[in-house]
Amino acid sequence: KYILAIETSCDETAAAVIKNGNEILSNVVASQIESHKRFGGVVPEIASRHHVEQITVIIEEAMKEAEIDYPDLSAIAVTEGPGLVGALLIGVNAAKALAFAHDLPLIGVHHIAGHIYANQLITELKFPLMTLVVSGGHTELVYMKDHGSFEVIGETRDDAVGEAYDKVARTLKLPYPGGPHIDRLAAIGTPSIDLPRAWLEPESYDFSFSGLKSAVINTLHNANQKGVEISNEDLAASFQESVIEVLVEKSKRAAKEYNVKQFLVAGGVAANKGLREKLTAEFDKSAIEIIIPPLKLCTDNAAMIGAAAFIKLEKKHFSDYRLNGNPGLDLEKQ
Ligand code: ATP
Ligand code: MG
Ligand code: FE
Repeated sequence: KYILAIETSCDETAAAVIKNGNEILSNVVASQIESHKRFGGVVPEIASRHHVEQITVIIEEAMKEAEIDYPDLSAIAVTEGPGLVGALLIGVNAAKALAFAHDLPLIGVHHIAGHIYANQLITELKFPLMTLVVSGGHTELVYMKDHGSFEVIGETRDDAVGEAYDKVARTLKLPYPGGPHIDRLAAIGTPSIDLPRAWLEPESYDFSFSGLKSAVINTLHNANQKGVEISNEDLAASFQESVIEVLVEKSKRAAKEYNVKQFLVAGGVAANKGLREKLTAEFDKSAIEIIIPPLKLCTDNAAMIGAAAFIKLEKKHFSDYRLNGNPGLDLEKQ
C-alpha cells in the first residue's frame, strides 16, 4: 500500500511517498530557512506564500522519484495540525484537491504523531513504548500502549526545548535556527558555567526551560556590563549540559516506571548530537531498546506523516472534505 503524504505546518514544504508505513520511496523537503533567516524566525505570511509557490512542484517531484502514479496510491495524507494555520491550509487544500481528483481516501495526521512515527521508518515499533518529543514547539514525554494511542505524561510548562535553543542562539548572535549552532559550539566548549536545572516536583514529568534561558541571557548581560570575557563555547556547553541532564533523567525515570520495551526520540532537537550520545549511552546500559531517527527524519518532513497515516489507513480512519487546518489539534484525541 502506497501513501502520498504532505507536510506544510511550518517552514518546510514537504511531500513523500511511503510504502506500507515503513519504507521511503521518496522524501522531498524544500526548506524556507533562507527566507526567514534575516527576520530571526519564521514569518507566517512568508511561510504561506512559499508553500503556495512550492507545493505543486514538490508533490510532483515526490511522485516522480517514487516512480508511481495516482491510481497506485491507497490514500493521500496531510498534516492537519498543530502549526501555523495559513501554512497548514496550503497542504490540507492540496491534499483535498488530489484526493477528490483521484477518488482516494484522505487522512489527516497530527504533526507530533508524525514526528513519533518517524521511528517506524527505522524499525518496527514495540509496545508499550515511551517517546521523548523535543521540537521547536513541543517538549513532552508521550506514552503509547499501542498504535495510535498517545498519552502525554509530561510536557513543558513554558518554553519548548527548541525554542530555548533558538532564543539562546539569538542572544549569542548566531544565525536562525540556532539549535545546530549551539550544538556545534557546545561540542568545543567546557560546561564550566553554573546554570540552573529545572527538576520541578520530584514526581513530575513536566519540563521548564524559560528559567534556564533567562539565566543564560543574564550571565551574558552581567559579563558584558563588567567587561569580562565570556566564552560562547563554554556558555553553549553549559546550557546544553543543563538541558540534556534534565531530559535524560526524566526520560530514564519515565521509561522505567512505565516498564516500556522501546524508548523513541522525536522532533527537530532529536538531531542534537549531545542529546543523542547521552541518551544512547544511558539506555544502552538498560534492557530498553533506544531508537533515534537519522537527522533528516528528525526535522520536519513528510515521510513521517506517511508513516503515521498508515495506521489510520489500516483502521480506515479517514477524514472527509471538511478537513481543515487545526493549529490546536490534540494529540491524545487522535
Ligand atoms: P513542532 O514540531 O513542535 O511543531 P517545528 O516543526 O518548528 O515545531 P522541528 O522542525 O521539529 O520544529 O524542529 C526545529 C527545532 O529543532 C528548532 O528549534 C531547531 O533549532 C532545533 N534543532 C535542530 N537541530 C538541532 C540541534 N542539532 N540541536 C538542538 N536543536 C536543534
Ligand atoms: Mg521547521
Ligand atoms: Fe516539527
